Amino acid sequence: MSVEVHHVTKTFGSYVALQDVSVSVATGELVALLGPSGSGKTTLLRIIAGMEVPDPPSVAVSVSGGGAGGDAQARSDASRKDDGKILFFGEDVATWTVSQRQVGFVFQHYALFKHMSVYENIAFGLRVRPRQLRPSKTEIDQRVRRLLQLIQLEGLGDRFPMQLSGGQRQRVALARALAIEPKILLLDEPFGALDAKVRQKLREWLRQLHETMNTTTILVTHDQEEALEVSDRVVVMNQAKIEQIGTPEEVFHHPASEFVIDFLGSVNVFSGRHLEGDFSGRDLHGEPRDDSKMYVRPHELSISRHAEDERSLPARIQRIHRAGAHAKVFLQTALDQNVRVDIPITQCHALSLADGEQVYITPLNAHVFSTDFNI
Ligand code: ADP
Ligand code: MG
Repeated sequence: MSVEVHHVTKTFGSYVALQDVSVSVATGELVALLGPSGSGKTTLLRIIAGMEVPDPPSVAVSVSGGGAGGDAQARSDASRKDDGKILFFGEDVATWTVSQRQVGFVFQHYALFKHMSVYENIAFGLRVRPRQLRPSKTEIDQRVRRLLQLIQLEGLGDRFPMQLSGGQRQRVALARALAIEPKILLLDEPFGALDAKVRQKLREWLRQLHETMNTTTILVTHDQEEALEVSDRVVVMNQAKIEQIGTPEEVFHHPASEFVIDFLGSVNVFSGRHLEGDFSGRDLHGEPRDDSKMYVRPHELSISRHAEDERSLPARIQRIHRAGAHAKVFLQTALDQNVRVDIPITQCHALSLADGEQVYITPLNAHVFSTDFNI
């Protein structure tokens, strides 16, 4: 493992920014920390970098109180010896300074030195090294040229940050972080300030770069598409805690909580009773009711002109968005529930669906998260 975070809690005064957070990142892995603003992503990244100190474990237990604290107490003393620690390649880094940790760090807002050329910006981290650790002039020059090639900005070394586009600047920021050849690369919303098209390109480029450099990368983002596309694993965070850790496929198709399914894309919520962890037609029709909810993603519903089975629900088409590979069909059920169904555009054309039409929708899959439901 490159990075291990063991039961870390961080409080600012009485505010809990991270609560009993544990995660391990394998060498060469690209992990995304995904969550809404304020969920603790930056705090976790800063703790890994050494810019912030985690709470001592004793405080952590008293803060987490009943639930998580109880769990912590239930664990054996042996398994608690690393609580509150960050390990790099198995070593406790508590006493290591930011520079001793030798991580590459890139922030959302380009922190390039305005008065330095692109070349000088990239060379900076090497030039400021103590004399005995500093590579020779020729070596620095070779490394900077290699990096310029890697970020596809050869020939632009003499430019100043002002003379670059936003995307180019962020690539320089990455090259600068990579110049010190960090084993661990930490990226905090590095593409956050750029427009969608540039972000998409940089995302693909980052994935290639990560593979070429063979680094271990932790990427903070609030953009679920970015996290799902670029990473090997996603850590979904919410309100200072980790909701789920898994591959993009796992977190998308097997979300562990209501928060995860809701955060990772559009979802229709049907209330009603569920039976034996599954669902039936009665559920969607809303009777008999209880307070469990069923979550069905837009692509997990089909549309037909006739009822397919007892689960099919009549619904009226409100409007159709056809601009895309999938048509987004917005409907309203007899119970006034708004539903979105995504179907391939070819199917939409084949069915020649029109606004105002009555059709049937049938769930192909449903997710139920009920904590208090006993079968
Ligand atoms: P994210 O990066 O997921 O948006 P942060 O880790 O930046 O979230 O912040 C988590 C919470 O901790 C926020 O509510 C923020 O206001 C709070 N916080 C972060 N840093 C500090 C600090 N130095 N002092 C007080 N509160 C902080
Ligand atoms: Mg942040």
